[in-house]
Amino acid sequence: MKKYAMPVIMLVVFETIAITLWLTKDNLFYLFNFSYIGLSISLGVFLFIQEYRHARRVVQLLVGLYMLVYLGLICNENMQIEGFWYYLFTGVFEAATIHYAVAKIFGPLIFGRGWCGYACWTAMVLDFLPYKVPKQPRRQLGWIRYITFAASLIFVAALFLAHVRNMERIMFWAFIIGNMLYYATGIILAFAFRDNRAFCKYVCPIAVFLKPMSYFSLIRVKCDKEKCVSCGKCKRVCPMNVDVTDNSRKRANGTECILCMECVRNCPKGAL
Ligand code: SF4
Ligand code: SF4
Ligand code: SF4
Repeated sequence: MKKYAMPVIMLVVFETIAITLWLTKDNLFYLFNFSYIGLSISLGVFLFIQEYRHARRVVQLLVGLYMLVYLGLICNENMQIEGFWYYLFTGVFEAATIHYAVAKIFGPLIFGRGWCGYACWTAMVLDFLPYKVPKQPRRQLGWIRYITFAASLIFVAALFLAHVRNMERIMFWAFIIGNMLYYATGIILAFAFRDNRAFCKYVCPIAVFLKPMSYFSLIRVKCDKEKCVSCGKCKRVCPMNVDVTDNSRKRANGTECILCMECVRNCPKGAL
């Protein structure tokens, strides 16, 4: 039964968030929202334990489609970074601000970049592309993410400074256009660099939040040095170029780990 502790822990964490927000915000939506996400993630972890090959993709589709189609397109909630800035500037702790607090700012202290591996609707599409493992060496282009981060902040700040009306409508269209730009850029980069996750590594502004917080992540893949035979297979299958054999928090690309568990699945010695 011990091996089922993780899906139970994930469910308890999300149910705690769901019930706390439901009661403090007096809004039943939060109970539904975080219970659904928690159940989806717990199901994925359970399927992974059962060694179902596509466990991660199941969660990615369940959560990613829910957020993109239901919350974004049907409920008109902008969950992109500009939606976060928008709600932050209006001083409202709702929608995107709650989402960012849970998934991208404080949550990574517990589950690292699990968001990137199991929930992001941008990566949900990019992971269907052919370069699941990078076919070219990593490039020093991570600085681009700070430009996209600043651009999103300046865009929303400018709207506020100009006292633009119909901000909700603009945020909805920003969500549509922003997503189209993300998908187009992500697909072009994936083929140009022969790496599905090139967008995540170089362009995504959300990594500006995710990287420092996931440095302290409670949940990490660790290597049992007694079992490891230094075959290098884990590094060859890692989509994010993480040196997972190094147990230090400073390991190469450690803050990029998306907890996809490809290294764990492929280690011939069960060292991870
Ligand atoms: S880095 Fe950005 S695009 Fe990539 S999975 Fe994470 S949030 Fe999504
Ligand atoms: S795949 Fe396993 S045995 Fe091989 S280097 Fe990685 S941790 Fe060590
Ligand atoms: S393969 Fe391992 S080290 Fe690489 S991202 Fe996935 S879980 Fe993290």
